[in-house]
Amino acid sequence: MSEETIFTKIINGQIPSEILFQDDLCICIKDIQPKAPTHVLLIPKKPIPRLVDATQEDAALLGHLMVKAGDIAKSLGVGDAFRLVINNGEQAGQTVFHLHMHILGDKTFTEGSLGM
Ligand code: AMP
Repeated sequence: MSEETIFTKIINGQIPSEILFQDDLCICIKDIQPKAPTHVLLIPKKPIPRLVDATQEDAALLGHLMVKAGDIAKSLGVGDAFRLVINNGEQAGQTVFHLHMHILGDKTFTEGSLGM
């Protein structure tokens, strides 16, 4: 689990991406392969590989991400219905080992389904 993921390169400006929002702690970009009409990624600038690698020290950062996820969903017009997904580990579908939240909206998700 190297720290030099594609998201680190995006954060450092080495790779272009469609940035919707950023502050000192996080960046929000459009997903390059959207699974819903609205599909953005909210990524902490700190390269925590997986959610389980976060510690108590990261509690404020994780709280910040949750608040920003709501703000971003509202700003994208999906505040009333969106899905927030974190894949933790390869078997759960994680492909980029730099913690990130998927914000998915403008789609009717099957009732009770956890699929994306
Ligand atoms: P996960 O499978 O949860 O690790 O999610 C990784 C996500 O990153 C996938 O939805 C990819 O489509 C997305 N992704 C990979 N590379 C890029 C990129 N260069 N710009 C934007 N999104 C990307």
